Amino acid sequence: MSSFVSFLISAEQQRRVRTALWVLSFVLLFAMTMLLVFRDLRQGMGNEVARAMESVTRARSASTQTLGVMNEELTADICSDAYISQLRRVAFLPDGINELFYFENGRILCSANNGRLETPQMLEMADIPATDDMPTLWIDRDLGLLGLPGMRGIFAVDGNFGLVLPMSKPARVSTDALDMQVVIHATDGRYWPIGGNDGLYAQAVAEKTGPFALIESGLTDVQCDLGGLNCIAARAAPTYVIARGAPMLALGALVSAILATWLSGRACQLLAHRWSFEQRFLRQLKAGQGLECAYQPLYGLDDDRIVGCEVLARWRDVDGAMVFPDRFIPLVEKHRLTMPFTANIVAHAYADLLAIMAPGQRLQVNFNIFPQDLNAALLLEIFAPFLMPDSAFDLVIEIVETGAIDLSTAQAEIEQLRRYGARIYIDDFGSGYSSMHTLAGLSVDGVKLDRSFAMAPEGSVMANMLDHAIDLVQAAGRKVVVEGVESAVCLARLKNTGKVDIAQGYYISRPLNPPAFAHFLAEEERFCDKTTRLVA
Ligand code: C2E
Ligand code: CA
Ligand code: CA
Repeated sequence: MSSFVSFLISAEQQRRVRTALWVLSFVLLFAMTMLLVFRDLRQGMGNEVARAMESVTRARSASTQTLGVMNEELTADICSDAYISQLRRVAFLPDGINELFYFENGRILCSANNGRLETPQMLEMADIPATDDMPTLWIDRDLGLLGLPGMRGIFAVDGNFGLVLPMSKPARVSTDALDMQVVIHATDGRYWPIGGNDGLYAQAVAEKTGPFALIESGLTDVQCDLGGLNCIAARAAPTYVIARGAPMLALGALVSAILATWLSGRACQLLAHRWSFEQRFLRQLKAGQGLECAYQPLYGLDDDRIVGCEVLARWRDVDGAMVFPDRFIPLVEKHRLTMPFTANIVAHAYADLLAIMAPGQRLQVNFNIFPQDLNAALLLEIFAPFLMPDSAFDLVIEIVETGAIDLSTAQAEIEQLRRYGARIYIDDFGSGYSSMHTLAGLSVDGVKLDRSFAMAPEGSVMANMLDHAIDLVQAAGRKVVVEGVESAVCLARLKNTGKVDIAQGYYISRPLNPPAFAHFLAEEERFCDKTTRLVA
């Protein structure tokens, strides 16, 4: 999960994520397009087949009609000359049927083209027996018995009247677009091809089974008429597929590409928002996850001992990376989460420190609070564990001047905090808004000189001002704390003034995680003795 998240949040991967999303949406959209095109092709085919079916049905109704006409018009004596001429008259009707006959006891006695047969012709077992609306059918029979040897046709008989349908008639259904085959279907499953492309029906029927019928059967279709007597199998010709499908596919590809670009862009925006640093941090913070504390040792110059630590917030990003306060402190303020944030840090620090403190050990613990949170009642609640009578900690609250601070209100809050045992330091003194006015107006316990003093290059204006700043704070009767001590020279210089109470900086130690801080405390004596020798 975390590697997936790292992948998502890393800037270099954004392009790849975007490309992957584009490909994914394009494939999906194009697949949908293909499905639509496929449906359209099938529909087009269905229409063509239905049209072909009409012509087949027309031929069928023509024969039913003709049999009806025979029933009405053949009034002369059976197979008499007059009867034959009546037969011929009916055969002359423009319906594509040319041979009619009289049928009795399984035999043809006379026909329109042959007159009275010298020997009645026997029709053997019918292929499809009669039903209410269908004559009895003999399919694909040689017409030799009616004087047309070598030709084949269908005999249809209703009662005593019969006619011959040409085999080839309904076969003229294949078009440029489709290959088709027409069959006559018996109810018992047997069927007779009566025209079109050989084998197509068998193929189409076989392909049409199974769960993937649609895909397997591809662009083939089988339609039967109402009684199920005639069926047409059709298969789209490649030229038809290309002519009808290609333009739609090309358009679909273009639209899919445009939509995929929009969709992937939008999805990336959403991902970026959801996985933006701000959103990640807020989500984790609200879930009480990710916050950690680092502890930077405070070095007491009076007796060259570690007197305590400053608690510094850290945030562990979802990919495991360590994030420093300059990135998330502004977010905490922007989203007005300052108090819950401080409470979280305090609770963390209390648990960490309790676990690493040696019995009987005392430790000064400095916390940073947000200037706008200088509210004694709320802070006393948050810091309660550190202020308990048996607490092994000396609590220091560091506040930074912001200019918006109202001195008399701040003084009242500070007074109350001090009454309950908290000590107050002004942080970053000498930078931003901090002024002598504040120093004089607030009964704070100590002042931390901004690290820019100690870190300034030797001989610079800031470096020269350090001594004066130290004098100033001492004159105000506050403890003097100097931050940003990065070298032995710097520490020695501070020690030599004899006025600095506490030094803090990378030379003493960088901020440490709890185990490292525990180790540092355990080795403290060795470190301090070495430092003392070095700075002496
Ligand atoms: P700060 O209160 O002035 O904390 C001291 C900062 O100076 C820390 O940075 C520390 O790592 C850095 N530092 C210490 N010694 C040296 C040194 O010798 N050289 C240099 N170059 N830097 C040194 P960090 O931890 O990045 O904290 C930055 C700021 O974030 C803090 O400045 C503080 O204003 C704020 N902050 C940190 N944790 C909290 C917190 O829990 N609550 C609040 N409200 N603010 C916090
Ligand atoms: Ca006719
Ligand atoms: Ca501080």
